[in-house]
Amino acid sequence: MPFQKGNKLGQKNKGNKLSEEHKKKVSLTLKRKGIIPPSRKGIKDSKETRIKKSNFQKLRVKDGTHNFWRGGKTKEAKKIRGGVEYRLWREAVFARDNWTCQNKKCGARCCEIHPHHIKPFSDYPELRFAIDNGVTLCAKCHRKTDNYAGKGLKRNFIKK
Ligand SMILES: [Zn+2]
Repeated sequence: MPFQKGNKLGQKNKGNKLSEEHKKKVSLTLKRKGIIPPSRKGIKDSKETRIKKSNFQKLRVKDGTHNFWRGGKTKEAKKIRGGVEYRLWREAVFARDNWTCQNKKCGARCCEIHPHHIKPFSDYPELRFAIDNGVTLCAKCHRKTDNYAGKGLKRNFIKK
């Protein structure tokens, strides 16, 4: 059936599951147009598959090979931030930067300053207490960094 403009079929089918035949047609059209076929996102696995996947993931978590499991890093990060090593690191960073915001457009030497990890804290555990990986930013500029609360940093933001 050729597609007709003004056809109400699309509206009628809104919210309904697409028939297998229709799915095949959509897939073929997309392929013909060079569009990558839709991902499996949103397609539910059978109960059996889900149980299998879940058990597999549990095993992987157990032996620490789970892809997304961060090894309880949020908790760990909190512990580190409260630790003496972290306090010493931030003091050292502040002292080196003369307690001044290192954003070249700002340079504030007032208010609240934060130690900022140039390479993200969570991805570079070995650089957590490296003075070179720390930079002083005022609270305002810290909020603007791309990896504030888990984003990625624009390197040119920092004065070298
Ligand atoms: Zn600043």
